Amino acid sequence: MTRGEHGISRKGISDNALKVLYRLNSAGFEAYLVGGCVRDLIVGLHPKDFDVVTNATPDEVKELFKNCRLIGRRFRLAHVVFGREIIEVATFRGHHQSEPEKSDKKSDKKSNKEVLGKQSQEGQILRDNVFGSIEEDAERRDFTVNAMYYRVTDFTVTDFANGMDAIKNKRIELIGDPETRYREDPVRMLRAVRFAAKLDMTISDDSVEAIRRLGSLLSNIPPARLFEEVLKLFISGQGLQTYDLMNKYDLIQPLLPQLAPLLVDAQSRESQFIRQVLINTDNRINTGMRVTPAFLYAAFLWYPIEEYCQKMMDEAGLNHFDAFNIAINDVLHRQVQRIMIPKRFTTTMREIWQLQLRLPKRFGRRAYQMLEHPRFRAAYDFLLLRGQIEGGQLLELADWWTSFQEASVEQRKTMLIKLRDEEGGAVRRPRKRRTNKKPKSTASNPSPQ
Ligand code: ATP
Ligand code: MG
Repeated sequence: MTRGEHGISRKGISDNALKVLYRLNSAGFEAYLVGGCVRDLIVGLHPKDFDVVTNATPDEVKELFKNCRLIGRRFRLAHVVFGREIIEVATFRGHHQSEPEKSDKKSDKKSNKEVLGKQSQEGQILRDNVFGSIEEDAERRDFTVNAMYYRVTDFTVTDFANGMDAIKNKRIELIGDPETRYREDPVRMLRAVRFAAKLDMTISDDSVEAIRRLGSLLSNIPPARLFEEVLKLFISGQGLQTYDLMNKYDLIQPLLPQLAPLLVDAQSRESQFIRQVLINTDNRINTGMRVTPAFLYAAFLWYPIEEYCQKMMDEAGLNHFDAFNIAINDVLHRQVQRIMIPKRFTTTMREIWQLQLRLPKRFGRRAYQMLEHPRFRAAYDFLLLRGQIEGGQLLELADWWTSFQEASVEQRKTMLIKLRDEEGGAVRRPRKRRTNKKPKSTASNPSPQ
């Protein structure tokens, strides 16, 4: 396609990406922009990043750029670093010749291709470093809209899989046989729903049908990779649409197995809570506000924790405080087997959860101390969401905190006196018991202490 046909102008392309293309070209290599950036430029979106593909090997790329590092084992490629912008430079991928690994057979001498490319018995590609031609590279890409190649020497786009038609028809369709392609890389199922939501397109029938059958293969993906992929699903600015599609195609279960059973009823408070969290997250992203994965995961796991906590109280006779802490540990432990949430986020998640128990306790200096807590804002936002969904005492508590934050010094004093007058009995009792055992914490229904 000529410039007139695809409509991409060089102005839409990052200067750094252009530099990489020119440098590769002048060293005698072929080089193209490919994938999401070409697709986004054609549909009129701002590409998130620019990916380059070339016939130069990663080592040859490294020789050309000082600011280059090689990354990845499963999929080796070069990162050319320009301050905060990274241009990913991959080498054309070729087809794997090796058969899926047989566990009963100790392979003799491995061919070079086997060492570079490796597939599991389920058909999953474990290593993908077999290099090939541009045609092979195009066949190895996931969706037809992602296999268009822009060349800066003549400004043409080469469309290997009728991606332009797919854009016109608003279709997300896999290249090749859907079952084989999902087995090769189950993450493609998540990518299908992400692109459908992002581009406001529909996944084609045959590409959809296999998802419901093969969703469970996602459990074979390393938990660290899933963390990255799941994040892209929910911090894209279209988290709610993505979530709705994931629900529709049963993709929540393999990722968040403890949450999924609570979402079966779309009207349940759990479903409403998650939807509201995603609506708020989308709004924040789309208005340039910061979001943290910790808040999202804290929300995904809140009701599983509450449920587990209740079970521990009923079945093991534990008090709420102990049951809650065990629930936090166990639920988190099970989740990180599936999705490796980094420690820096789980620390914040724990704080958000623990503060839910502290927010009801406002007497004396506690309310002031709470305002100073580094996680107060996140914990308050979390409480507000719970209040919006559950109403009742929880909403009153959240509203109290809203007013307390906005109040003047005098008004705050008045609020605390009023609280003490209303709940007087509850204040004095703990003081008298000072030398006795600590009063038991109350259940998640906030006690108005
Ligand atoms: P975005 O950057 O908007 O998330 P993208 O399509 O650019 O979308 P990337 O993850 O940046 O997604 O990948 C760049 C390109 O690499 C894709 O467009 C696709 O051609 C190819 N690709 C990425 N992941 C896979 C995969 N799992 N299987 C096959 N091809 C893939
Ligand atoms: Mg991209």
